[in-house]
Amino acid sequence: MLEINATEGVREGSIFGQISTMDHEQLVVCHDQATGLKALIGIHNTTLGPALGGTRMWPYASEAEAITDVLRLSRGMTFKNSLAGLNLGGGKAVIIGDPKLKNEAFLRRFGRFVESLGGRYVTAEDVNMKTSDMEYIAMESRHVTGLPQIKGGAGDPSPVTAFGVYMGIKAAAKKAFGSDSLNGKKIGVQGVGQVGKYLIDYLVKEGAEILITDIFEDKLTEISKATGATVVDPNVIYDLPMDIYAPCALGATINDETIERLKCAVIAGGANNQLKDEAKHGKILMEKGIVYAPDFLINAGGVINVGAEYFGDYHKETVFSQTEKIYDTCLTILEKSEKENIPAQQAAIEVAKARIEAIGKVKLPF
Ligand code: NAD
Repeated sequence: MLEINATEGVREGSIFGQISTMDHEQLVVCHDQATGLKALIGIHNTTLGPALGGTRMWPYASEAEAITDVLRLSRGMTFKNSLAGLNLGGGKAVIIGDPKLKNEAFLRRFGRFVESLGGRYVTAEDVNMKTSDMEYIAMESRHVTGLPQIKGGAGDPSPVTAFGVYMGIKAAAKKAFGSDSLNGKKIGVQGVGQVGKYLIDYLVKEGAEILITDIFEDKLTEISKATGATVVDPNVIYDLPMDIYAPCALGATINDETIERLKCAVIAGGANNQLKDEAKHGKILMEKGIVYAPDFLINAGGVINVGAEYFGDYHKETVFSQTEKIYDTCLTILEKSEKENIPAQQAAIEVAKARIEAIGKVKLPF
């Protein structure tokens, strides 16, 4: 746990302690008095290329929470980008505060911080950041992707993310049930935001029986009307029997409190950092016989999309066919997990690391 706050400052060793635990290259602290900007940019590993990962804006309860989030998310991007076959390293940014703080000056100031890193970090959208926000950042920095189509970008990456998650769900279903058909499977989608809503469309077309939950009731009513999905309470989703639980809201929903309640054969969804404690909860899922499709593996469609845009080589068909490969990668990793009797999360990290080590001719310490 980090010990850092405005009055006490940073206790010696706390930040470097955490950075070295996860082996980050750099943590950048950005502050601007005039606009109230407080942001952190985490660069985990740049062996494969510039560290690409979105910016999340969130009213974190403490600075320690924000630091932990940026470090965990940027590390996840290293593995995600490697497994997706991209020549990109892992990075992420978090902006601390209410998303209502966002305006042109605020976002342009953030853009200047991104630019100051000279391309070591490339930003894009994440939770509470939209393609339109990227436009302001792009006024100050070349190292931004995920721009609106009218500005020459590839637009919202969420539909591609959802397609990759769908591929991951099918691969995990194949492993768990012997068939990748989702017809008649009961699937609980937690969070019907950008990723969740597009994912539901694929599941509906396959004839799945869908349960949906969200903290915003109006979104649920609209989607339920359009798709016939059954609305369930956000607090009871963990207790309901279902074939597949698809977390598509925020992270850490697989934790000490929920893991005993889950009654599903498969967990596969779009949310980042689903396992609160990667080692502990990954192992429990394996022991319970739940097939887990690692989040950073199956939600890579979005970064495949923004990566193609960043390299100036965007073709929608290529992006979708590259994302379709998530199905095969996921099956390979689930097979490795079974054969070596290791959690799927660990199997995925090993494969991601092996690619970085082979290309970079390095031995990674993490
Ligand atoms: P979003 O903000 O559009 O949607 C998230 C939804 O989850 C919202 O509707 C929100 O109300 C709901 N939610 C929040 N807390 C909840 C709770 N406790 N119970 C139920 N619902 C809850 O975000 P998004 O873009 O759809 O992303 C969803 C997840 O997928 C995030 O973890 C994000 O980091 C990850 N992800 C997104 C992309 C992308 O392309 N959008 C790519 C990779 C990963």
